[in-house]
Amino acid sequence: METKLLTLDRKHPDEAALSEAAKLLRAGELVAFPTETVYGLGGDALDATASRRIYAAKGRPSDNPLIVHICDTAALSELAREIPPAAYRLAERFWPGPLTMILKKSGRVPSETTGGLDTVAIRMPSDPIARALLAVSGVYIAAPSANASGRPSPTKASHVMDDLNGRIPLILDGGPVEIGLESTIVDLSGDKPWILRPGYITLAMLRELLPEVEYDPAVTRRQKDENLVAKAPGMKYRHYAPKGSLRIYEGDLERVVEKVREEAFKKQREGFRVAILASEETKGRYPEFTVRSVGDREREETIAANLFDTLREFDRLGADYIFGECFRQEGLGEAIMNRLLKAAGYQIEDVG
Ligand code: AMP
Ligand code: MG
Repeated sequence: METKLLTLDRKHPDEAALSEAAKLLRAGELVAFPTETVYGLGGDALDATASRRIYAAKGRPSDNPLIVHICDTAALSELAREIPPAAYRLAERFWPGPLTMILKKSGRVPSETTGGLDTVAIRMPSDPIARALLAVSGVYIAAPSANASGRPSPTKASHVMDDLNGRIPLILDGGPVEIGLESTIVDLSGDKPWILRPGYITLAMLRELLPEVEYDPAVTRRQKDENLVAKAPGMKYRHYAPKGSLRIYEGDLERVVEKVREEAFKKQREGFRVAILASEETKGRYPEFTVRSVGDREREETIAANLFDTLREFDRLGADYIFGECFRQEGLGEAIMNRLLKAAGYQIEDVG
């Protein structure tokens, strides 16, 4: 299959491109498109065949449910049942935006879309291209991240092309995404609300409306722990990992820089290709090495925006060993460290 790439202006999406994409969706075919979080691989959420195509294109395990994208809160009552009042409060505050809610599913949603679960994940994106595509197509769009399963989520159309070229008919290119990390997922389907995945909408923001909400302990851990199984099926899989071995160092930043330099020298002397994941503040401290700055520690949103592209860059560089600095694990940093630790397979060392 030939994969077509159409470039759209984010502010004024081209109507011809949108209607071509909408036609494919209505026919049960797949279209990759930008959202404010990451690029999504979309298919008609109510069409079981389209959902099966999504799993096949990504090589995603079929027990890992998809997020259903909507453009109107009224869709909630069509896709979900026994909706708690908190869902409407959260929708009012955070939609359109990077928040996904888990609710009990209605009979209209095929079990293929929900990975066999009795619950459904729903989000209203704010990206103008995503919104226009939902409106023009008139379908609810099931869309996981548009990467091959296990790779870092795509934040640019070129990442989608790298992973899915030849496997899907169309990619809408709206340029780099705004946020760069996947949505916060909050589970409202049980007696107590849980954050199943940290994202741009932080714990503190959610607690303003939902004081009792807590993180699923499996998502804030800093170590591998076989006894902690994540509540979101997708969070249990190996994810984001670059091909090389990634190790993270935490502690006093000066000591971290020293340790990263020491370890990098060791591996470089052994003849390995070494790369360093640094920040704007420290990138000048490693002149002997290949260094990538992931962003500015004072502006965490820059780290969020660049993280996945930087992880992919280490593969392009063919790095055997990557040594990285740790970031603050709080607020947006909770989402950043969740992705970084997964990418590192929880290889993290405290240098004091
Ligand atoms: P992605 O869209 O690629 O970011 O993946 C969707 C994420 O949402 C995965 O981690 C899924 O496990 C999670 N998810 C989707 N639906 C549900 C659900 N009904 N219950 C729990 N987690 C879900
Ligand atoms: Mg994903």
